[in-house]
Amino acid sequence: MEAVASFKKELSSPKKIFITTHVKPDADALGSSLGLANYLIKKGHEVTVVTPTDYPSFLTWMKGNDSVLDFSREDHQKKATQALDEADMIFCLDFSSLKRVNDLGEMIRQSDAYTVNIDHHQDPEDFADFRYWSTQAAATCELIYELIVKIGDKNLIDKDIAECLYAGIMTDTGGFRHPNTTKNVHLVVAELIEIGANASQIANWIYDSNSVNRLKFIGFAISRRLVVLEDLHTAYFTISKKDLKKYQSRTGDTEGLVNYALSLDGIKLAALFSEREDGIKISFRSSSDVAVNKFAASYFNGGGHKNAAGGKSDQNLKETIERFESLVEENQEELFAGESVSVE
Ligand code: 5GP
Ligand code: MN
Repeated sequence: MEAVASFKKELSSPKKIFITTHVKPDADALGSSLGLANYLIKKGHEVTVVTPTDYPSFLTWMKGNDSVLDFSREDHQKKATQALDEADMIFCLDFSSLKRVNDLGEMIRQSDAYTVNIDHHQDPEDFADFRYWSTQAAATCELIYELIVKIGDKNLIDKDIAECLYAGIMTDTGGFRHPNTTKNVHLVVAELIEIGANASQIANWIYDSNSVNRLKFIGFAISRRLVVLEDLHTAYFTISKKDLKKYQSRTGDTEGLVNYALSLDGIKLAALFSEREDGIKISFRSSSDVAVNKFAASYFNGGGHKNAAGGKSDQNLKETIERFESLVEENQEELFAGESVSVE
C-alpha cells in the first residue's frame, strides 16, 4: 500500500507520460493503455500512447485510438521517440519483459523517467520503479481498474474508460470462460457495466466484425490445416505465408483460431504456427493443468500465462512442427501430469 501511496504522489502534479504495451497489442494491451491514458488525461497529464506495432481493426473503436503512435511506422517514429525522450513517467502495460516491445525496450531501459510496470504475466523482469503486478489478475485491465480505485479516483472512470477496460477483461478471460474468470472479474465488470460499459456492444465490436475473407480463412484452416494428435491430446494449425496471402490476411485475422483446436473433445494442448516475415509465430493454449507458458519458455523462446502463451521459432514451418511434435511426445508425462488423461 505504501508503494501505491508514493505512486499516487508521483501523479499529484502534471507530468509528461509515455504509455506502451506489447507487440501486436490485443484488447487487454490496447484497452489497458487507452483506459489508463484517458484517466491520466482527465487528471491533467500530457499522455502519449505508443504501440511497438500495429493492431487489429476490431480495436479501433476505443477512445484515444486516433492519437496512438505505431512505432513500426516510419512516419510515427520521430514523434514517438520525442515523447519517450521528454517523458517524466513511462508506463509498461501487459508485458513483463522489455524484449516484448522490440526496439522500444532498450530505449526504455536507458531512460531516466519513473517507470511503472502493470501486468499479470509470470516472472516479471526487474526494470520498473513501481510494479503493480499480479498473476492472480485475469487481465491488465483488471489491475488498472483496481489501481484507479486504490488511488481514490473511481469517480473519474467514465463510460469510455470503462469500455476500454471491459474489453480487455472480456477477451483475456476468453469471453468469461477461461479458468481465470474469478469472482473478482465479475465484480469488476459489474462495476464497469454500472459505470456505462455496453457489454453486448463491445462483444459485437470485437467478436462479430469478421470480414468475409477472415471467415473463409477460418473455414479453410479448420478443413485443411488442422492436425490432431489424439494420443498426445494435442491439436495444432500450421499456416503458411502463402495461406495468409491467399486470404488477404490482416492483423488480427489469426487471433482466436487456436481456440478451435482446443475446443476438440479430449484435446488438452493446442498450438498455432504461423509463418511471418521474421520467423514462425506460435500461439499455445491449454486446458487447466497443462502449463504451456513453461513449455513455450523452455523450447520456443516465449512465455505467457499457464493456459495461454506464445513463442517463436527461427526454423522453417516443417522443421518447427517436427520439433514441436517430438517435444510434446518427450514431455508428455510432465505436460499432462495433472490431467485426468491416460498417458501411455
Ligand atoms: P497470443 O497467442 O494471443 O499471441 O499470446 C498469448 C499469451 O502469450 C499472451 O498473454 C501474450 O502476452 C503471451 N505471449 C505471446 N507471445 C509471447 C512471446 O513471444 N513471449 C512471451 N514472453 N509471451 C508471449
Ligand atoms: Mn493481458
